[in-house]
Amino acid sequence: MNVEKLRDSVRNVPDFPIPGIQFKDVTTLFIDPKILDELSEGLVEMYKDKGVSKVVGIESRGFIMGPMLARDLNAGFVPIRKPGKLPAETYEISYMKEYGSDTIQIHRDAINENDIVVLHDDLLATGGTMLAAVQLIKKFNPKKIYVNFLIELEELNGRKLFDPDIEVEAIIKYAV
Ligand code: AMP
Repeated sequence: MNVEKLRDSVRNVPDFPIPGIQFKDVTTLFIDPKILDELSEGLVEMYKDKGVSKVVGIESRGFIMGPMLARDLNAGFVPIRKPGKLPAETYEISYMKEYGSDTIQIHRDAINENDIVVLHDDLLATGGTMLAAVQLIKKFNPKKIYVNFLIELEELNGRKLFDPDIEVEAIIKYAV
């Protein structure tokens, strides 16, 4: 995997959605089939020997590479969604964001105690969303939880929110 090539393929959009934010646009990673393939391969390399049985993607940018990774690992895919979207019985968790709170849900029958889970989202910023997702998955008491991002903004130190028993991986890292 050529991480530099992948990093060069992420479009940086200054001042989106508000002034001062350097927005990392992951859509430019997906538009070139060679880059998309390289990204896919990089993800598979990270988890191919870990016995993963479920990949859990966080709405909505976790729904792009999540199912691809699940298929490549011969695992199932499970969505974590915003409230009111999942039709059957759910577990949910609310968490604080910069402005106000948010809630995420997962189907109650989606994970079991024998599962080895990779939680996937596009980008680690403060880590609040993923931490809530980890707490949601812990309700199922699975054998192991891995956390995966395409991109990590290291300066925000989001990874320090996670317990040491949770392995946090990102393909592309930005120091600043
Ligand atoms: P956080 O909970 O702070 O780790 O961020 C949650 C979500 O917000 C990430 O999964 C991204 O989809 C989005 N996000 C936050 N900061 C950025 C950024 N600088 N560029 C692109 N997306 C971002």
